[in-house]
Amino acid sequence: MRDDWILVRFGELTIKGRNRGRFEDLMVRQVKQALAAYPALAYRKTFGRLYVELNGEPYEEIAFRLKDVFGIASFSRVIRCGHELQEIRETALQAIRNMDPTPRTFKMTVRRAWKAYPHDSQEMNHLVGAHVLRNTPELKVDVHHPDVELKVEIQPEGTYVYASAEEGAGGFPLGMNGKAMLLLSGGIDSPVAGWMSMRKGLEIEAVHFHSYPFTSEQAKEKVVTLAQRLAYYGGTIRLHLVPFTELQTKLAQSGQEHLIITLMRRSMLRIAEKLAERRGALAIVTGDSLGQVASQTLGSMNVIGRTTDLPLLRPLVMMDKLEIIRIAERIGTYGTSILPYEDCCTLFVPKSPATNPNLRIIERVEAQFGQELDRLVEEAVQGTEMLTLTETSRSDAPAEKAKEDSWF
Ligand code: ATP
Ligand code: MG
Repeated sequence: MRDDWILVRFGELTIKGRNRGRFEDLMVRQVKQALAAYPALAYRKTFGRLYVELNGEPYEEIAFRLKDVFGIASFSRVIRCGHELQEIRETALQAIRNMDPTPRTFKMTVRRAWKAYPHDSQEMNHLVGAHVLRNTPELKVDVHHPDVELKVEIQPEGTYVYASAEEGAGGFPLGMNGKAMLLLSGGIDSPVAGWMSMRKGLEIEAVHFHSYPFTSEQAKEKVVTLAQRLAYYGGTIRLHLVPFTELQTKLAQSGQEHLIITLMRRSMLRIAEKLAERRGALAIVTGDSLGQVASQTLGSMNVIGRTTDLPLLRPLVMMDKLEIIRIAERIGTYGTSILPYEDCCTLFVPKSPATNPNLRIIERVEAQFGQELDRLVEEAVQGTEMLTLTETSRSDAPAEKAKEDSWF
């Protein structure tokens, strides 16, 4: 007997008790969903791990897909064989030969989980290790810093042999930690904020404010494409398209040019909060990064953030632009984000936006609009269009996605 498996290890191992069970059930469901295109696969769950039997399906393609499933800490290609010593030796040798590039040093680790097995772990280390060494020129033993650790696990139903682990995306399975509304502009930052939230187990619904006809149809298409890209990681994404033109035009009449961005952001949050309530979301996610632009100083964040009682999550707040761009490239949103179409905020950008707006002044300006502001907020919510987007096909993954890179 010899068959091919993938051993999937789950992340966030500190989760205990009932949450652990939920984590694992969600994990298994999402791995199956991500690999739905490969019907011959078979699944077997044991405590804290999932075994996927390949049954002839292509390992490389499946590995590529698995790297994007949240909640996976790592995974390994595993060969399962019988208990005969010679069979185990040959399988171990095969595992090393499967590796590209061939390792220069290795360490042998045999674990005898099935205690009835006649040789103990120490003996097996020698018996299997020596065979691999004899048959692989150039390979040496290094117990401290080996290129690979060749592992053999003897279980009652068979022997599992594997030689390396690939890093997974980590985090939590999607939806494990509830739902949030993501303010999705057409820029570089907010899609990254969305991906990071999803990786933390948040289900995301995206909200985009547009000022059609001042903003183009292409600007809207761009956001749809970005949301679809996020759907690649989550199966489905709902995108709420909010008509912002009237509100924005009204706010522009305040005569306080330098405060317009602050006023717009506050209105955006009011609308997002109402949509969150409607959709059962408990937080709002933005792509704010401290100090990046006038609306993202601490002073601005303070005045803007006071508009809502919901937690405002800003996953990028402490990150450098270059770090954000690297992730954008890795997740396949960067190419779309840098397309030049204007969004609603770039339309009204004042020459010198306030970097430290005063809350009292802002509240006074808003009070001057009276109920007009509430009415426009309500109208925008009522006029919101909701799209349900599913992932684009796997082959649509942009070329930049293929670049092998660690997560950060
Ligand atoms: P991004 O690259 O995400 O557009 P940015 O650096 O351009 O961010 P801002 O334009 O100041 O920064 O926007 C800050 C955050 O406000 C965005 O990350 C996004 O979450 C939200 N936001 C801005 N404009 C819009 C919009 N038109 N629709 C939805 N959310 C928006
Ligand atoms: Mg922007």
